[in-house]
Amino acid sequence: MTGPALSVVIPVYNEEAGLPALFDRLYPALDALQSPYEVIFVNDGSRDHSAAVLKDQFLARPDVTRVVLFNANYGQHTAIIAGFERVRGERIVTLDADLQNPPEEIGKLLAEMEAGHDYVGGVRRQREDVWWRRIASRAMNRLRERITHIKMTDQGCMLRAYSRDIVEAVVASREVSTYIPALAYTFAHSPTEVEVAHEERAAGESKYSLYRLIRLNFDLITGFSLVPLQLFSLFGMFVAAMSIILYAVVFAQRTLAGDFRGGLNALWDRDILVFFLIGVMLFGVGLVGEYVGRIYQQVRDRPRFTIHAVLEREADQVPETKIGTPVR
Ligand code: UDP
Ligand code: MG
Repeated sequence: MTGPALSVVIPVYNEEAGLPALFDRLYPALDALQSPYEVIFVNDGSRDHSAAVLKDQFLARPDVTRVVLFNANYGQHTAIIAGFERVRGERIVTLDADLQNPPEEIGKLLAEMEAGHDYVGGVRRQREDVWWRRIASRAMNRLRERITHIKMTDQGCMLRAYSRDIVEAVVASREVSTYIPALAYTFAHSPTEVEVAHEERAAGESKYSLYRLIRLNFDLITGFSLVPLQLFSLFGMFVAAMSIILYAVVFAQRTLAGDFRGGLNALWDRDILVFFLIGVMLFGVGLVGEYVGRIYQQVRDRPRFTIHAVLEREADQVPETKIGTPVR
């Protein structure tokens, strides 16, 4: 079975108001590329009528449209994974459903792929989001840059293109919570970036509350770095070392004052002892954390979602199970 050249994966969560505008711009933009494509919408358990709108669109363009309906809300990145498991194209582009990523920019990403890159990240030229998100996002970009090996100018931009190999590797990584642009980056051999436009949301509102943004960034940091765990051990070692220095200082002070026995008694000074033991304890917690961290890395192996239904033509069906376990 030969697939189309391009698969576009779009996660959809409560976007009924914006979807018609998306269809109106997405399909003409893809038709203009003049090569075979497919669009895979993943409805991430929307509570509005997004599923029905997607179904109508499937009926309108069944030749190039496929729709996956989740039974509940699993989050944007899990939705994209479900799309990735079903792509047939050689190149895969991810896009938000809210028209913040202009579909007309897809051609730009593909041009970079044509030039030999297997991972093309979008960088939003002028970001159209609320000010506190722009500031927080810049800070997180910088933190991630320091504690992981992932180089991304704009980690929040989901307008990205991947080669099929990368997408297969992402699917094969059995992680429960992940951050796709970062995970994909770790599999890329020739990543690059291009500037893309960014627009204000066409309709509806952002699905990311402050809490969800914090959760997402936790996924990003803990998923790709053990530094947070290691900080504990380091801090514990620091505290223990400081208390030993304190011992030495108090001992020297008392001995110099002619009170050698008083100096020795400093060893039993409750405050310094507590200081020391807390250091040892923190180090121990960090050490246990190291092992827990390794176990955590090993056990990321549960089904990530269950699928309620898949809308696609019979001819397009790929053998699969109902949980997120790809048959390979
Ligand atoms: N989204 C999703 N599941 C969620 C949250 C968001 O599929 O739980 C989709 C949403 O429909 C949109 C994309 O992910 O297509 C980005 O979401 P949003 O525009 O709300 O994020 P923001 O642009 O504010 O970062
Ligand atoms: Mg958006």
